[in-house]
Parts: sequence; C-alpha cells; structure tokens
Amino acid sequence: MTNVPTRWLTAEQLGPAFDDGGPIVLIENTTVFRRRPTHRQKAHLYLTALRHRARELGERGTFLQASSYRAALTDAGLAGGALESIDPPSWAARRLVRELGASILPSRGFVTSEHDFATWAAGRKPTQLVMDRFYRDVRERTGILMTPGGPEGGQFSFDADNRQPPPKGAESLGLPAPWRPVEDDIDAEVRAELDRLDAEGVRFLGHDGPRQFAATRAEALAALDDFVETRLTDFGPYEDAMMLGDDTMAHARLSVPLNLGLLHPLEVVDRVVAEHAAGRAPLASVEGIVRQLIGWRDWVWHLYWHLGPDYTRRSNALAAHQPLPHHWWALDGSATDARCLSHTLDTVGGSGYAHHIPRLMVLGNAALQRGYDPAELTEWFQGAFVDGTPWVMPANVVGMSQFADGGVMASKPYVASGKYIQRMSNYCRSCPHDPARATGPGACPFTTLYWDFLLRHEHRLRGNPRTRLQVQNLHRLAPDERRAIREGAGRLRLPLVAPEEFGR
Ligand code: SF4
Repeated sequence: MTNVPTRWLTAEQLGPAFDDGGPIVLIENTTVFRRRPTHRQKAHLYLTALRHRARELGERGTFLQASSYRAALTDAGLAGGALESIDPPSWAARRLVRELGASILPSRGFVTSEHDFATWAAGRKPTQLVMDRFYRDVRERTGILMTPGGPEGGQFSFDADNRQPPPKGAESLGLPAPWRPVEDDIDAEVRAELDRLDAEGVRFLGHDGPRQFAATRAEALAALDDFVETRLTDFGPYEDAMMLGDDTMAHARLSVPLNLGLLHPLEVVDRVVAEHAAGRAPLASVEGIVRQLIGWRDWVWHLYWHLGPDYTRRSNALAAHQPLPHHWWALDGSATDARCLSHTLDTVGGSGYAHHIPRLMVLGNAALQRGYDPAELTEWFQGAFVDGTPWVMPANVVGMSQFADGGVMASKPYVASGKYIQRMSNYCRSCPHDPARATGPGACPFTTLYWDFLLRHEHRLRGNPRTRLQVQNLHRLAPDERRAIREGAGRLRLPLVAPEEFGR
C-alpha cells in the first residue's frame, strides 16, 4: 500500500481547485495577528474560512491550531514524503515547504501558470513588462473574448468607455444592497476568539461588524450570482466613480473569495462572458471584469515572484520616508477635514474594503503626495484591507500607486489634484475645501500637494513622456504662488503622531 501524502492547504487555497480528494491539513495560526497589524474583519474572514473548510472536509481533514506553521506540521509528522503542497502564495510559505522537504505541485488559482509568465517575460526588459501587452497575449492564447478576426468589439480594452463620473445629483447608483452572508455558529466562535485576543492586547485595525464577504464555496457562488444579476451591467461605466452614499457602486466584491481560493478566476470570466454572449451584459462591462481577472490579477501575481522577495524593501525611488500618521493606522477619518480622505479612512475602518479608485486616487494619491514610506504603506494596505494578501499588495502599492520602483510596474506616478476627485466623485460638495484652490483659505490639500509633488519631482517627471505635459503646466505658477504652495505643502506633509501604539 502506498502512503498518500497529506496536503497542507493555506488560507488562500480553500476552494475545489486545490482539492484532489486526498487527506488535507489546515492550520490556524493566530500569532500572525500579534506580528502584523490586521483589520479585525480580515482576521475574522480568515479564521471563519479555515474553520468552515475544516468542517466541510470532515474526517478527510486535519485542523490544527498552533503558534507556528513549522512546529504544527513537524509535530504532526508531516515533513518529507508525508507532506504535499500546492506551491503556496507567499515567499515565506514557499521557503517553509521546501525546508520541510514537501513534494510541491505547481501553483493554482490563476489563469496563467508561472511557467507561462516566465516564457512571456524572457528577453523583455523590465520596462517592457507592461500589463496591456500581457493581457493581450493572454486573450489571444486563451481565446477569451476573441473572434476569428480579432478581439470582440474590435478592441482589446474598453477602459476609455469606463470612466463615467457618478450620476449628477444622485446619492447612490440605486442598485440593490450588495450580497451579504448570514453568520452562523462558526462566526460566533470566531468572534469570541478574536474578542479574547483583543482582551489579551492584540491590536486589530478597524472595527468589528457583521461579516460582509464570502468565506465558503457556497457563499462565493451566491456572491457571484448576485453580482451578475444586480451589478454586472453597470460595472463598466461607473468602474472609476466614487459616491459618499454608495461605497460598493457596481463593484463585485469578489476579491475576497478569489483570494481565499474559493472561486477560480476562470469561473468568473466564463460566467460574465456567457452573460454577454446571451445579450444580457454590455461588452464594456464584461471586458472590464475580464481585464481585471486575466490581465491585472494574474500580472500582479506573477510580478510578485518576478520582482523578488526584497522588492518592497529595496524600492524607494522617490526617497519617500515619512511615517504613516497615527490616524491612518487607527483608520480614523475624524482626524482630517478633507472629505474624500476622511470618508475613505472611515469606510475602510468599518469594513476593511474600498474599491480600487478610493484606494488608488484617494489613499494612494494622498500617500504619494505626502511622501509616506512605501514599505510601511504596503504593510498598512496589506493589513487594513480584507483582500490584502502578501502577493497582491507589493506591486499594487510600491509599483503602481507609489511609483517607488521608478517605473518598472507603472509608466507614470498616479498623482492627481482635487479636480480629479471632484470630477469622479461627489465628495467635494460637502467638503470645506475647494478643489480648484492650491493656496490660501479653503485650499484643497490634494491640489496644493499635487503642485508641490510636480515641483519637487520636476526633473524626473519632465523626462517622462506620460508626465511631461503635467510638468509643463508649472510655468503657469508665479514665483509667489510656488512659494505659497511649497509652504502650504510643508505644513500638510508633517506627520501628526507616530504610530507607536501599533507596536511598530
Ligand atoms: Fe478631497 Fe479636496 Fe474634494 Fe475636499 S475639495 S473632497 S479635500 S479633493
């Protein structure tokens, strides 16, 4: 009789794509919350997802609660030939399974393999690893949204059609409330466990609240159904818009079940493409989702490995060294009167979620303008967001949002004035600041800091074809105005309080 190895599945590998029917071990390790500041609702999601999966597996599964993954596996006799792993999704976990001598299967849960990406990237310069090219290549190889004559609708991307501002005068898009799970006995146990850790002094970020995201396979499928039925049509046009009364807009909120491995991206792609084929969903919305999943998500995953384990630590091209202020770590919007920032911090504090534009153009933009340290900011995004895995944040934050790798990941810094936020949201209507003003009473901090950013990095930005026009506008600023901007920006960039209470 052959000995069947036991497969260790991490909390990101909980769906059917990772289960071939053999014995499985799951490990719950709450000491990670002592080491890394984590949103309370994210901690809840991970624990409840693991415990629900353990219950589903029944006698086929072994559920261990431990303070060390290594000790848990070795104490259970799981090393060498007894242990199997689907190559896990972090550098640390990959090191561990190799040191334990596990047999390792190729990673799963993405559309393209690591081998596919290595082949694509071979021979390209670092600056040629562009998402759009990768996305086109995947579309052509998979045939997704392709016809014999080329891409469906005659173009690969409908991004330009998907930038509508929010409807004028409305408080929300008027869509049904997003899908929510019904909590059960496991959620109650998890809440009690997290209350106990809290009482012991573990500092969670944000607030507790009813669970909002899918943590089981059945819930993930229900959330997908709900998105397709209620939001898919509107997803494209309002993808980049933000509204005070509607934090979800038409977004899918499927990143949590995707990153827990409960849904495979191709399942989502097949579903939305079928809706388009049946005439029930517009191409621009469907292509927007497809691009997020087979373009952006896969690309960021591959870059995590391609850029190496020290990518975050070594990347600080703009010499940004300001510590994150206390109110960011506290997710306390009341510390600022900038309505966009205040609302976004409170939203993340209350749910661990904000869609991609508040992340990039409010939080990321504010951090870029203020010169927050990109490594600390990455740690913050990873801990504060319910979908913040170790692989997803480095390229998104360091490369895309902060331009800290100097242009490997993004071709320009995503910096914008208050005018962009005014155009794409209804935030400015209830803000004491004026997005058109860079100086003087009522000046918008995003506008002041936008011009200050251009002034501070003028030399670098002038040499970049994608930012040259922005820099040319600096000639409109009189010397007095430049001085006023620099002085105002200097005051805005001062950190309020160092975040020592989070043990950092
Ligand atoms: Fe944000 Fe400026 Fe608009 Fe206020 S005026 S909401 S600070 S962009």
